[in-house]
Amino acid sequence: MHCPFCPETDTKVIDSRLSHDGIQVRRRRECLACSERFTTFESAEFAMPRVIKSSGAREIFEEQKMRMGIMRALEKRPVDTARIEEAVQHIIRKLREMNESEVNASFIGELVMAELRELDQVAFVRFASVYRSFQDINEFKDVVNRLNSTTEENN
Ligand SMILES: [Zn+2]
Repeated sequence: MHCPFCPETDTKVIDSRLSHDGIQVRRRRECLACSERFTTFESAEFAMPRVIKSSGAREIFEEQKMRMGIMRALEKRPVDTARIEEAVQHIIRKLREMNESEVNASFIGELVMAELRELDQVAFVRFASVYRSFQDINEFKDVVNRLNSTTEENN
């Protein structure tokens, strides 16, 4: 590829390694003319599935919209940004791996809930109560009870 520092049109790969999750190749390159070094990243490009709303309308998947939903649920909670980003990337990877052209919005909601449940239980309940708009209070109690029982298992 071209050198980003000078007009040279050829650069040499001096090192090539796979990221720890195996989804990206990182290459160190060196320009043969000016000797500048730089890094390139290579990864497969996947199309994200479109989202089927409950109305049947189709929308493009918006990563930022999903991230905002997660952040809203985690507002004022002690969860750092890196962990939120990790959760977002988990969800995106799962959606890609499904290799479907369309997925239900409710399925994405379930993926978000699964991640929030790991991150922060308050955020999980916040998100679930808005998202599922529980039919009745018993259904809500059910979710909270299930949370409590898994907490006990973990302790
Ligand atoms: Zn150069």
